[in-house]
Amino acid sequence: MDEIVCPKCGSSERLYLISTIQKIGTAVGGGVGSIAGYLGRGSGICTGAIIGARIGSIVPGVGTVAGIAVGGLAGAFAGFFTGAAIGNYVGKYIDRNVICKYKCGRCNATFSR
Ligand SMILES: [Zn+2]
Repeated sequence: MDEIVCPKCGSSERLYLISTIQKIGTAVGGGVGSIAGYLGRGSGICTGAIIGARIGSIVPGVGTVAGIAVGGLAGAFAGFFTGAAIGNYVGKYIDRNVICKYKCGRCNATFSR
């Protein structure tokens, strides 16, 4: 990776990547992931509802319903974290390789690479 230097003060230290897309990516990815995780809770990776229902079935009736609810939530959470991680990663990549905006911590100048 080549060294990035502030065009104003010439400092190569304390340069921060302005992560606009990374934040958007995390939020969007988390939202999409949680929906996907919730919808996909009965199939594939997210079998939380089925497992939850089985555990809940020890106490019949109410337990089954509660188990499905908890399992579905677990699926949504798992989806959220997976989606957020992917969104964060993609956003970071875009920030670093497409937008390339930096802020200098020494003189507060913002610049593009
Ligand atoms: Zn500077």
